[in-house]
Amino acid sequence: MPVCDICGNRISTVADITKSFILTTTEVVENKAYWKFVFSKPEWLSDKSSTLIPYLVVKQTSLETGWWVCQNCSSHYTFNAPEAQQRIIDWSKNPNMVFGSSKNPANASAVALQAWEETHDGKNQ
Ligand SMILES: [Zn+2]
Repeated sequence: MPVCDICGNRISTVADITKSFILTTTEVVENKAYWKFVFSKPEWLSDKSSTLIPYLVVKQTSLETGWWVCQNCSSHYTFNAPEAQQRIIDWSKNPNMVFGSSKNPANASAVALQAWEETHDGKNQ
């Protein structure tokens, strides 16, 4: 059963699946909401250093599989809903289907750094 790749919630029922989406890596990693969610997790929030961000960006932008996004999380993302639902149909025929890595990792890197500043600045002031 799929799991939301953002929040980790299970997408277990058919009703859940029909309300969920599969986004591409580009749609996720160029979205500040994604990075703010990541950096708001305790292990990142307690870390005052941003030195690991470039490694994380390389890892996340190179993922070629689609990202399951549950109905709750989907409200934070911008995407073409019919295309994202079509990917679920494609996935149901072939769970190993890939939708491509990030088209422009530099964009993702810039967005990640902005999100880092917004989640960490102000805390130390
Ligand atoms: Zn979710």
